Amino acid sequence: MSNIPENVVVVRQRVAAAARRGGRDPAAVTIIAVTKTRTVDEVRQVLATGLTDLGENRVQELKEKWTALGGTAATWHVIGSLQTNKAKQAMEMASLVHSLDREALADEFARVAERDGKLVDALVQVNVSGEGSKHGIAAADLVGFLRRISERGQIRVHGLMTMAPLDADAEQSRPHFRRLRLLAAEAQRLALPGIDLKHLSMGMSGDYEVAVEEGATLVRIGTAIFGTRQ
Ligand SMILES: *Cc1c(COP(=O)(O)O)cnc(C)c1O
Repeated sequence: MSNIPENVVVVRQRVAAAARRGGRDPAAVTIIAVTKTRTVDEVRQVLATGLTDLGENRVQELKEKWTALGGTAATWHVIGSLQTNKAKQAMEMASLVHSLDREALADEFARVAERDGKLVDALVQVNVSGEGSKHGIAAADLVGFLRRISERGQIRVHGLMTMAPLDADAEQSRPHFRRLRLLAAEAQRLALPGIDLKHLSMGMSGDYEVAVEEGATLVRIGTAIFGTRQ
């Protein structure tokens, strides 16, 4: 049995301690509880702790929980790779899409947003490690991608997201997180309209403390809150 309320307390304490180690304000870090594979009852236990930011990988699963909980119960984040034909649904339910990772998806967001008279709020996912298995824009292509989004309008980019290669040793993630922070700072200097890279979505259960030390403003945490996934 996992104890969700206790786990949330521990994660909060660790995030705050890591922020202080990094010379940062703990309030500048938002914990996103990653709810994939979890039940609605488990999600309710998280919401009862006062944590209101939730992340889902798949739009279908997000929709089930969104419907069961009521659309306004939480702030939802889409964090997983998104099929182009799910872009519209993601826009309707999520406050922020962390996984804008390719031109075709940017095109679809812009198309739907323009048609519906809306703007889309997103983070650009960057494949910092260069691992072939990882989604995301290559670091070398980031500025070009941001320029095209900026010129087209419709998508507001609030920051960058990355996933470090899985490793038992969290310190192995540090150079990737640091690189993401530097990439954001570099691109921010271009002052592109509609692009304001103040958020860094990085860090999961195994490496969120390192991520916060390196400047994460959004950490995506599943296992450390809910226990091991089945
Ligand atoms: C599953 C997932 C997480 C959370 O993983 P944990 O190791 O359980 O904390 C974070 N980000 C993404 C993109 C995920 O798919």
